[in-house]
Amino acid sequence: MASASTQAAYKIIDHTYDTVVVGAGGSGLRATMGSAEAGLKTACITKVFPTRSHTVAAQGGIAASLGNNSPDHWTWHMYDTVKGSDWLGDQDAIEYMVREAPQAVYELEHAGVPFSRNADGTIYQRPFGGHMQNMGEGPPVQRTCAAADRTGHAMLHALYQQSLKYDADFFIEYFAIDLIMENGPDGVPVCRGVIAMCMDDGSIHRFRSHAVVLATGGYGRSYFTATSAHTCTGDGGGMVLRAGLPMQDMEFVQFHPTGIYGAGVLITEGARGEGGYLTNSEGERFMERYAPSAKDLASRDVVSRSMAMEIREGRGVGPHKDHIYLHLDHIDPKVLAERLPGITESGKIFAGVDLARQPLPVVPTVHYNMGGIPCNYHGEVVTIGADGNPETVVPGLFAVGEAACVSVHGANRLGSNSLIDLVVFGRATGHRLKELIKPGTAHNGLPKDSADLALGRLDHFRNAKGGSPTAEVRTEMQRTMSAHAAVFRTDELMAEGVTKLADTYKRMQDIHVSDRSLIWNSDLIETLELDNLISQASVTMSGAYARKESRGAHAHEDFPNRDDANWMKHTVGWFNGWGGKGGEVKLDYRPVHEFTLTDDVQYIKPKARVY
Ligand SMILES: Cc1cc2nc3c(=O)[nH]c(=O)nc-3n(C[C@H](O)[C@H](O)[C@H](O)COP(=O)(O)OP(=O)(O)OC[C@H]3O[C@@H](n4cnc5c(N)ncnc54)[C@H](O)[C@@H]3O)c2cc1C
Repeated sequence: MASASTQAAYKIIDHTYDTVVVGAGGSGLRATMGSAEAGLKTACITKVFPTRSHTVAAQGGIAASLGNNSPDHWTWHMYDTVKGSDWLGDQDAIEYMVREAPQAVYELEHAGVPFSRNADGTIYQRPFGGHMQNMGEGPPVQRTCAAADRTGHAMLHALYQQSLKYDADFFIEYFAIDLIMENGPDGVPVCRGVIAMCMDDGSIHRFRSHAVVLATGGYGRSYFTATSAHTCTGDGGGMVLRAGLPMQDMEFVQFHPTGIYGAGVLITEGARGEGGYLTNSEGERFMERYAPSAKDLASRDVVSRSMAMEIREGRGVGPHKDHIYLHLDHIDPKVLAERLPGITESGKIFAGVDLARQPLPVVPTVHYNMGGIPCNYHGEVVTIGADGNPETVVPGLFAVGEAACVSVHGANRLGSNSLIDLVVFGRATGHRLKELIKPGTAHNGLPKDSADLALGRLDHFRNAKGGSPTAEVRTEMQRTMSAHAAVFRTDELMAEGVTKLADTYKRMQDIHVSDRSLIWNSDLIETLELDNLISQASVTMSGAYARKESRGAHAHEDFPNRDDANWMKHTVGWFNGWGGKGGEVKLDYRPVHEFTLTDDVQYIKPKARVY
């Protein structure tokens, strides 16, 4: 708790809004637009300039069943997403997403996204892993709408330009520290706003609002190597855990098959969509053995596991036989220049390889968090209520994008299904806010202790004089995650991982921050980010250790099969960390939705997942 003197030491500037969105990536900007469009007084807080959010790095594209380059139907997209999720996705939410997808893409087109075009002027669509025609039967479908290999860049710029048209206030390079929560009448906490720090001058800003939307992205940086930006530290998830609320399905971490070996920089799946393929040290196109039908375009978990198997069995390439080759050298250089210019450049810069002539060294790399803040398809955050209702809405709190777990991606996300998730659920959240909040509704007074948690933590870390520098503790956590919660997992490895992370969490209590200033104090900000990362890393490891089956991205070697009878359920995990607590993880489970949204489509029953 922050003492009265701590409070006095920091100048607090108060703001009042209907809606505060934290995050200005694809999902945050879309939610900001929706809220402002509904006439709600809206603020968007972001720690980086909006167009620097990680969405800018998305390459391959955005999935929607437009049917421009091959026949397609939303029910096929639904089938593929359910199968991709290894039946852990909630089918009502999936139905919502795939049905809204085409409209959402046309909306982006009209907003100015410069999509690549077919000769007839329609949006160009490429094949992507796990996306098939005819309810999974095949052949592969061309469903991924692309702006060359810079789709996220194009999208984010268009969305930012659009959002300026609306009357939303942007607080740029403000770091949100903690939520303002209050006890609700039925024991469920209510969100009343958020506390942020302006990184430029250290001033503290208290935002009082009817709704807070967390759009803070993933926590890929809990691992040592990741395709995600260094800013992907899951700050929203950290805030939720400190508020005593759970996270969901955190054990499902996606490894992208093609990160550049050594650098971790992403090579889009669009590369395989355009005809690229993988080979081992014997020059064999080994995916033909693992996925005879989809081959190199099987879903990501399947391809990553196959690569890991090849490496493990001694057929990796390079002096240490620890990676795989991706070939694009057979593709017409004109096609490379037109459709994959960005990765052609990345290959040159990060691997010194000319893609038109040489294969690229690649290795499975941490890429995406299927897990996140549990919410329904309106974006409302849910928790297990006192009466046991597993979907009790937390009033005033919303989550969208990679920070959220709706859950449409279940145990494994299909490529190009994240960008569509951002805009579909960003928009849905805007609709919900419009239904729930009347513009100008009066605000209740804030609780007296509204800034205590945020200022207490800020002040604690700012003055931390322990023996463990932030960078050391962070590396320790990242190495543990990379070694103990990787593509393949065993009971023994994960049990060790749980213990090691608990030890690392103890070191958090002995953290050392050397910069005490409040002006661009990156040492302090990185420490707050580490605090957010480590709580989520701990929930990830414990959730993984507890799940005694293999499903999607969770490949448990001691339990190699999917076990629907015991494990077709979402993990929910709490972290008991701040305020002198030891960092224990508590787990519970909630049922997967075995129903659809409408009668237009039937529940897709689980079956073996082969590609
Ligand atoms: C290299 C790469 C390529 C990808 N390619 C594709 C693709 O082709 N297709 C696809 O579907 N998906 C792709 N993905 C996944 C997809 O891009 C991401 O899941 C998605 O962009 C996440 O968007 P978001 O809106 O949730 O968050 P982000 O874009 O990560 O934005 C997070 C926002 O939150 C803000 N923020 C975070 N913490 C705080 C805080 N404490 N205070 C204030 N603000 C904060 C940040 O400033 C930022 O604005 C790719 C991912 C990567 C890493």
